[in-house]
Order: sequence, then structure tokens, then C-alpha cells
Amino acid sequence: MTKISDYISKNARQNVLEAIKRANDKNEYHALLSFTEARALERADAVDRGEITGRLAGVPFVVKDNFFAFGAPTTAASRMLEHFQAPLQATAVEKLEAEGAICIGKANLDAFAHGGSTENSAFGPTLNAFDKTKVAGGSSGGSAVVTALDIVPFALGSDTGGSIRQPASFNGVVGVKPTYGTVSRYGVVAMASSTDTIGCFATDAADAELIMDIMAGKDNKDMTTLPDFFKPTNVKPGLKIGLIKETTTDDVDPEVKQATLDYVARLKAAGHQVDEVTMPISKYALAIYYIVVPAEVSSNLARYDGIRYGHRAEGVATLAELYGKSRDEGFVAENKRRIMIGSYVLSSGFFDAYYLQAQKVRTLLINEFNKLFEDYDVLLGPTTPTPAFGLGENTADPIKMYLADIMTVPASLAGLPAISVPVGKSSNGLPIGVQLVGQRRSDADLLALAKSMEKA
Ligand code: GLN
Repeated sequence: MTKISDYISKNARQNVLEAIKRANDKNEYHALLSFTEARALERADAVDRGEITGRLAGVPFVVKDNFFAFGAPTTAASRMLEHFQAPLQATAVEKLEAEGAICIGKANLDAFAHGGSTENSAFGPTLNAFDKTKVAGGSSGGSAVVTALDIVPFALGSDTGGSIRQPASFNGVVGVKPTYGTVSRYGVVAMASSTDTIGCFATDAADAELIMDIMAGKDNKDMTTLPDFFKPTNVKPGLKIGLIKETTTDDVDPEVKQATLDYVARLKAAGHQVDEVTMPISKYALAIYYIVVPAEVSSNLARYDGIRYGHRAEGVATLAELYGKSRDEGFVAENKRRIMIGSYVLSSGFFDAYYLQAQKVRTLLINEFNKLFEDYDVLLGPTTPTPAFGLGENTADPIKMYLADIMTVPASLAGLPAISVPVGKSSNGLPIGVQLVGQRRSDADLLALAKSMEKA
């Protein structure tokens, strides 16, 4: 697979044209919803004339289609925003462009990033890069697949409960979900404001580190951003690593478990200490997540009413009908499910029983992480309980679909950095990923560990 450095000092126009050709040749995966070709070529020519320079001069990339980026609509893979032309660009995109990177297109996702397979896209699913009968994972499935197919050396995604890590693991690439607040979310369609993060996919940890280094930092347009703390670094010897016992139970696919244990053996051989640790509260993580996140979703999606934002239905007689029909036509079933659950758990009669209770248990989960980080530098487990599942396999059963998030949601609820690294393949050739979780602001240390293990 190509690296970012393979694109530097090459003709930028050629880089862009070749990337678009590769994407067209792999069109059957349905990883991209649109190209930003005209704008990409203009920028490429400016790079070739020496007018745009930087650490990513002439490097093509792809953004998930919930990022505002010029050159194509920002649809969030929904009918609601099907024709929405962003009036501005996401800060993350602006920062990459300032270093000379060139966005060539926008990647498919589950509509409004609700999902774990990209099957909730209003425009049809993305196929797994290793097996076209399997899902790409999600919600950032398109971004993972364009990276895995080597169409571009990196792609952007958003991760609210696993949407970068899970598709990264399903497609054999590195996926980075940073500490909450590391990268500005300005100009990215909001899902759940207390766990939304911006991160990337790359073919190795060093490239991911470069992209995070460029994107990280305080942004006055996003009050939740942290002052820049991200400093690329090298691994410290003799780390203390905790293998989370609850992530390697018998419910986990045996090949996933074995690949995880093999990675543990490699960590030990590299001089790190790995102990089994326990996180009893993690069994509640999905229950917390699927209360807190729908609550925030229902609030964030309220603005799409056909008047202030989004698709407007035709042929309606009353205001209520206009709201109702616009939202009915604009949202997919999973969006509606979350709006209903969220409205329910926030309603005055049930707020204390569900939302408040979930937030309390969320605090207990955060405390449990903090306790473990008193003794351990890194926590580890598989990224997902199984390799990529079949297209259509979980679509009829939302709970089964939500179970695919069981390993990734704890770090999201606690705002911790977590990365998925490819560690092997199943007997039928599907990638398997391991997740490394660190303390807040330890993002660069996690990537340093991942870099060292790629070499080891
Ligand atoms: N699969 C998870 C969900 O459906 C995560 C989504 C995300 O991170 N955007 O909520």
C-alpha cells in the first residue's frame, strides 16, 4: 500500500487524476458518494505551480460526507441534505488544505453517522475492501474502504461510538479516534455532541500521526477543542499494558481472540508488560451509549425541519404536516429510531429513570478507566467481537447491529483516545484489528506504540 510520502514531490495533477481513476476502477465498492474533481484539479495545478506548499503538498485524500468541504454537496448520506452545498469548510479540511493536501471526493457513511455498517446510507451500502459480500463497517465505511483499496493514502472520518475504529478494523487499516476535543468539529454534521470526535484512516501509524498532528489544536470556532497537546513521539520502553478481560470472553470470535493474544505476545516480546485487567462496568457501556447518544441525536437533528434546514416536502397543507413529511422523507429508519428513543429518554416522565441514570453510570465507567490508568499506560482488546459481518446479516435486528459497537463505545463515553491497528486476518481472509486505549491526551503515545509494533 502507498504511503503519504509516495505522493510528495510528484506532479499533483497526476496524483489527483490517478486517484480518481483508481476510484472509478473500484466503483463497485460504492465507497464514494461524489468527486470534488474540478476543485481538486485547480488546487493541484496551484501546487504544481508552487503556489501552494506544505507537508502534504499534492497528496490526495477523501473526507467522509458529513464534513463540509467545497466542490460537492455535503449529504451526510441522507435525503435530508442531498443537495446541501456547504457555505464553509470544516476546520479539519481547512488545516489539511493549508498543508497542500487535495480532497478528491466524499465518502459514503451511515446516514448522519448512525450505524456500524454503512448500510444505513440513503444511497446504498459500501462493500468491504476484502470481501464484497461483507459490510465495510461504519459509520465511516467509505473512508475506510478508500484507504484500504489504496485509492488515497489517508481519509477523514468521525467517531462517536466507534465509527472510525470499527471500519478500520474491518478493512485492515489504522483508524484513530482522538481524545475528545483534540480536533475541531466545526463544519462537521453533529451526531452526539458529548462523544463526537474527528480522526483519520491511514495505511500505517506514522501517516496517521502526521495527519493528527496537522488537524489537532484549539479552534475558536469549536469551544470544546483543547489547547494543542499533540506532539509526535517515540515509544517509551517497558510500558504497562492491561488486556481487558471482558473483551476476550467466549462470546468473542475465536480467531479475533487468538489474533489479539498473538499481538499481546508480540508486545511482551518487545519488552512491554501485559497483565489481564478487569472492567466489570463495561457490560453497561452499550446500555449507557444507546441512551445518551440518541438523546443528543434527537436534539441535534431537531433543526432539520424543512424550514430552517434540510429537505422540504411538497404538497402539504399545514405546518405540522410540513415538519412531519419533510422529516419522514429526509431521515432513514435508523435516524427516526434514534430520534424516538432520544425524545423518550429526555421526556419529563422518563428523564430521571433513563437519561440521568445513564449519565450516572457513565461517571462510574469513567472512574473505572481512571482507576486502571493509575496502574496502566495503555488498555487493549479487540476492536470488534467479530470480523466484518455479511451484508444484510444484522439489518433486521438493531440490537445485533449495536452489539458490534461493544468494544468501541467505552472509550467514546469516557472521551479517551483509542486507535485500531490491523493485527491479522481470519481464515477466510478478513482483517482483524486490536484497539489501544490511553488516558486523555496520550494520543501521540498510543501512535508511538503502534508505530513501534509495526516495525517489531
Ligand atoms: N455504530 C455506532 C452507532 O451507531 C457508532 C456510530 C459513530 O461513531 N458515528 O452509534
